[in-house]
Amino acid sequence: MGHLPDVAPGELVRVVDARGRQTGIAYANPHSKIVLRYLDRGRGDGAEGLWTRRIREAVARRGAFAPEEARRVVNAEGDGLPGLIVDDYAGWLSVQLTTAGSERAREEIAAALVETLRPHGIYERSEVPERALEGLEQRTGVLWGAEPPDVVEIREGRARLLVDVKHGQKTGLFLDQRENRIAVARYAEGARVLNTFAYSGGFSVHAALGGAREVTSVDISEEACALARRNLELNGFPADAERTRVENAFDFLRRSADAHDRYDLVIIDPPAFARGRSSLKGALRGYREINLRGFKLLEPGGILVTCSCSRPVTREIFRRVVQEAAVDARRSVQIVEERGHADDHPVLLEAPETDYLVCLILRVIG
Ligand code: SAH
Repeated sequence: MGHLPDVAPGELVRVVDARGRQTGIAYANPHSKIVLRYLDRGRGDGAEGLWTRRIREAVARRGAFAPEEARRVVNAEGDGLPGLIVDDYAGWLSVQLTTAGSERAREEIAAALVETLRPHGIYERSEVPERALEGLEQRTGVLWGAEPPDVVEIREGRARLLVDVKHGQKTGLFLDQRENRIAVARYAEGARVLNTFAYSGGFSVHAALGGAREVTSVDISEEACALARRNLELNGFPADAERTRVENAFDFLRRSADAHDRYDLVIIDPPAFARGRSSLKGALRGYREINLRGFKLLEPGGILVTCSCSRPVTREIFRRVVQEAAVDARRSVQIVEERGHADDHPVLLEAPETDYLVCLILRVIG
């Protein structure tokens, strides 16, 4: 490990160049493939209280938001805080500590969050595979304050959504898609809508609020569909097992396309099919297949909202694979909007892999 002195995993260290000039402050983990992660790129700040200052800055940058809304308040590298994700669900914080550095600073992080956000409670959801690469166990439970209720109600645009902070996927909700969910309502007036990989039905609720004639949601997870039904009902829309289906979306799409079923608006938001370069080829096959089915289900004039959150799949690659799917489906397609993640998920210029979410809104024109 070359010049790494005797440091504890996650300890903050001063990084110096060959001439001994400070180039920044980072935390080190001699056990990880990524040995240094920077919290400071040489502004000359000291290590003392650095986590606290960075958290204050991240919170201040977001400005005020309504207390009943949900926001990502810390987006890891994107906020100069590698290893730390903090989502605020109407005053309940859901936190992921993904590296030895954030793990070591756990108490300081909790104190800074309490000071800056005055939450009801902080719940830890450090259940991510990256932790194993850092030599850490998985951990979940109350980190500070009260235990969140089984579901927390938040407002997202015109929608009310229930979030399971303790057991839901990720930190409870896919907040990166917040603005895209809100945007979809504009295309839903009078539409017959299919929302695949629906999770807790966020896109479905927004489509219904936008005036959809009928909404079908599909997700492989029973818990997700149960929550989707509750969310639809909470917003005043019917939700039965027929329209909120526990099923593999690949099977549903294939069956519906073969049956020549038709929709006016199809939403495809799968989990990441590729995590690294090695899984890219298989991932592209998956995207091509589901987008082909999606196009087949649309009449001319229909809208496809299609997303990728696979880090190795760049905008350019995703656009190409969706285009191939359009050719396979013999559809002529227009790009109506090219979107990404919500603006509380800032991307760090030097870490382009933090720009992972692509959301294309497409119209079949022939
Ligand atoms: N669109 C959602 C987020 C989707 S996350 C939102 O806005 O909240 C991806 C979802 O796909 C998860 O809920 C997961 O349970 C589901 N999923 C994963 N594999 C699936 C499959 N093969 N078929 C259907 N759903 C699947």
